[in-house]
Amino acid sequence: MARLPRPEVLALTVFDFFSGQELARPQVTPAEAEVIASELFGIAGTAREMGSNQDRNFLIEDDGSRYLLKVDNSAFSEQELLAQDAALAHLAERGVRVPVPVAGGDGRTRQRWERDGDALSVRVLSYLDGAPLAGMREFGPEIVAALGALSGSVARELADFSSDGLDRKLQWDLRSADRVIERLIGSVTDADQRDLVAEAAGDASQRLGLVRDRLRVQAIHGDITDDNVLGEQRDGTLLPTGVIDFGDLAHGWLVAELAVTISSILNHVDGDPRAALVAVSAFDRMVQLTDDELAALWPLVVLRGAVLVVSGEHQVALEEGNDYAAERTDHEWQLFRASLDLGFDEAERFIRSLLGRPVCRLLAGDVEILDFSVASPQLNDGRWLDPEVEWKIARDVLARASVAAAPYGQYRLTRSTPNSSSEASTLALAWDLFTSAGAEVLVPYDAEVLTVTADSVRLTAEGSELRLSGFTPSVAVGDQLAVGDALGTVHQQRDGVGRLRVRQVADGQSKAPAFVAPSEAGDWMPVVTDPAPSIGLEPVPNPFDADTELERRSRIFASAQERYYLKPPQIERGWKEFLVGADGRVYLDMVNNVAAIGHSHPRQVAAVAGQLALLNTNSRFLYRALADLSERLVALAPDPSLDTVMLVNSGTEAVDLALRLAQVHTGRRPVVALREAYHGWSMGADAVTTSAYDNPTALANRPDWVEVADVPNPYRGTHRGADSAERYLDDLRSQLDNLAEDGRDPAAFICESVLGNAGGILLPDGYLAGAYEEVRRHGGLCIADEVQVGYGRLGHHLWGVQQQGAVPDIITVAKAMGNGYPLGAVITRKEIAESLSREGNFFSSAGGSPVSCAAGLAVLDVIRDEGLQANAADVGDYLLVRLQKLADRHPVIGAIHGMGLYLGIELVRDRETLEPATVETEAVCERLLELGVIMQATSERQNVLKVKPPLCLSRASADFFVDALDQVLSGG
Ligand code: PMP
Repeated sequence: MARLPRPEVLALTVFDFFSGQELARPQVTPAEAEVIASELFGIAGTAREMGSNQDRNFLIEDDGSRYLLKVDNSAFSEQELLAQDAALAHLAERGVRVPVPVAGGDGRTRQRWERDGDALSVRVLSYLDGAPLAGMREFGPEIVAALGALSGSVARELADFSSDGLDRKLQWDLRSADRVIERLIGSVTDADQRDLVAEAAGDASQRLGLVRDRLRVQAIHGDITDDNVLGEQRDGTLLPTGVIDFGDLAHGWLVAELAVTISSILNHVDGDPRAALVAVSAFDRMVQLTDDELAALWPLVVLRGAVLVVSGEHQVALEEGNDYAAERTDHEWQLFRASLDLGFDEAERFIRSLLGRPVCRLLAGDVEILDFSVASPQLNDGRWLDPEVEWKIARDVLARASVAAAPYGQYRLTRSTPNSSSEASTLALAWDLFTSAGAEVLVPYDAEVLTVTADSVRLTAEGSELRLSGFTPSVAVGDQLAVGDALGTVHQQRDGVGRLRVRQVADGQSKAPAFVAPSEAGDWMPVVTDPAPSIGLEPVPNPFDADTELERRSRIFASAQERYYLKPPQIERGWKEFLVGADGRVYLDMVNNVAAIGHSHPRQVAAVAGQLALLNTNSRFLYRALADLSERLVALAPDPSLDTVMLVNSGTEAVDLALRLAQVHTGRRPVVALREAYHGWSMGADAVTTSAYDNPTALANRPDWVEVADVPNPYRGTHRGADSAERYLDDLRSQLDNLAEDGRDPAAFICESVLGNAGGILLPDGYLAGAYEEVRRHGGLCIADEVQVGYGRLGHHLWGVQQQGAVPDIITVAKAMGNGYPLGAVITRKEIAESLSREGNFFSSAGGSPVSCAAGLAVLDVIRDEGLQANAADVGDYLLVRLQKLADRHPVIGAIHGMGLYLGIELVRDRETLEPATVETEAVCERLLELGVIMQATSERQNVLKVKPPLCLSRASADFFVDALDQVLSGG
């Protein structure tokens, strides 16, 4: 019998509705209990009375062992009591944590105690440790789920339990809720409250009536509530683990077991009934509920609340002045009211969506919700570009469900196309219900037919109208239809499949687009509303919100952590040279040099996933992927002398390691780096990073071992023109000589083989070979930072050093090497790498791991098999020509730098003074975003558009970019 909360000792007289008797609890003192325990069970201990509504319970403590002595209420039959004992033993055997009966001196669990000619039925149970959950105010989702699971496990294990004494007439059996309420409702003295109970119980019974004959009946505990569930502390939370009090054990509806548990949870979820429904999924995992049971659940929760309040009020009337009874009844009112906060339809829809088993009232059968959004795994591998993909996915789903439903409010990636300068209409303002052609369409609620065409109808709805299309109506204008009436049949649109489109339109609106552009959401969503509740489905919330993401990110990230754009789009997918926003907008990605083989390349995805499922460990073990990748790198290296590979996780690490190798190998510290360079963020890589954009005081605060040399920028540097190499080399020569005079000959000279951070500027011809010669004359090593420019990006060369005809001692590789997977490498000569052993061992936990190697090998395979270097040459040359033509018409383009798919478009206000057009460059980037192009600025002056797209860029995409840039520069 459910009661909230229970004080230690109760003196209640319980009225039994069916027998009309007062069930007096047996009168037994603790002293007598001690005698009973010792004489009948051989347990000598002290007795302390525990709470119970109908029995009399004593805790018997005997030398550290604890037992519960129960003197049962005389109203219970012998059979009922034996059934309880048998159920406890049955459940304990199945691993459910319940008290177990202890055998008395004669071997039987049930004993009789003779007193004054009376025989009391007594038994001893093992004592379950733990505190009742009723003592806790709030239940989090973890506890709610655990309660559902516990209730489900008891129901599951009792399914095959049988015993005499289970067919009982209990006030709490929800099969007779109607009669109990009818008889006791008179005890509710307040007329409004009485009406409330009568109305709610009436509605609930009506709903229940539709399915009650089909509900499963079995043995149930019947009272798995916060009072009768004990919790144990696990990681600081009281988690429900044990069930006590089998006094209501009887036959009943299986689903009533869950309804009772949920009803009790309602007092612990702060007025949010949906939070209590988390228990349903946990229960359903133990015992799968039928469709009828799902329909019955919420009506039963309401009826349980109604039974509790009428019984409680009745009890209060019987025991006038008993404050405890009144207080307890307040709790019952509270949970009853909470159950009314959720309508039956709403609750059923929510439960069904929780369990992934929605139904739709327009079409018979089960429904599976489709995901056509940007993050849908079914749209991977470029499947979203197939114009038939919605039908194909729907057809797959229809093999296992009757209806495949694409929800209202979803931004459909399937409706988006690449290289479009305006937003596609991705936002669905309709539900699309795919189903077998010929399926009967049913009327979802009582309605009048407003209009009919060959393939659509409009029906009345509250404050709006429902528009259905994609079917052949069988009704006429003015027909008054009742829920469930036939409306027509779905017609075929693809092989055997049709699509019923459902829109709900506010009164007085004629236009109702099924899809609108994301920027129109605010205008249209209030007009064309979600019909889900009208047709029996649960609305599907859009999980994406760029504003929230920006806010979350800002809260957690430091301001120094860079971000693109003033109002950034939320990017959730990549494919080839495209990035896709959460609203389905497709952007052409012209800056992601890391994604060299294209975003989310299926071959790399498969290689990484496959290796991850097989083995991922560190390079101190022996496995083939390590040598596979290293050999491929050596074979591709710009010179046969570069025969040794060290694998790391990033460009920064590669640079740091390269610097260390040079210093250890030469035994010197000084390193010469170029001005305006970026090499990484670690202490070592940052020391040689001289870019004033990345660090405004870079030149002033270099560590003493860094020597900064002039940047050989033939466009706007100290010396200008294609033939300026010699002049830069003269300067470098004298700088190195001066260093030598100071006894500071360099360990190394480091630079990018194309000036990346300066804007993709090609070094003047002869510079790199000349510089290497000078450095080597002073005994230094030459480090080529190929993190950005290597790996085929230049199209005509695999490595940047090859463009300059120079051979370095060490090269650093990253970015493209992993295509976004963290991967970097140093490639050098054996003797240089060997020097490291003077400083001890070298090891990087994930560097060169099997998965890293698989990721890197997949990239090399794709570059080779898809001819991506050749594509970079072809599309890069094409792009260069088109950009040069653009420069003829737009004086703001000062120069086009670079080669292949590594270009820089430098914007200047004056072609003579070369005044950087910094503000204009930022504005161009922002406007290009609106036109569907991702572009960013680079260089010290932030006036160069960095063109370094994935190497799979198509000519069509190159055209789209140039056309968009043309439009922007023309003021469009
Ligand atoms: N070197 C160069 C030339 C780079 O452009 C970068 C990254 N922009 C790095 C090194 C550092 O690479 P990572 O970001 O992988 O650490």
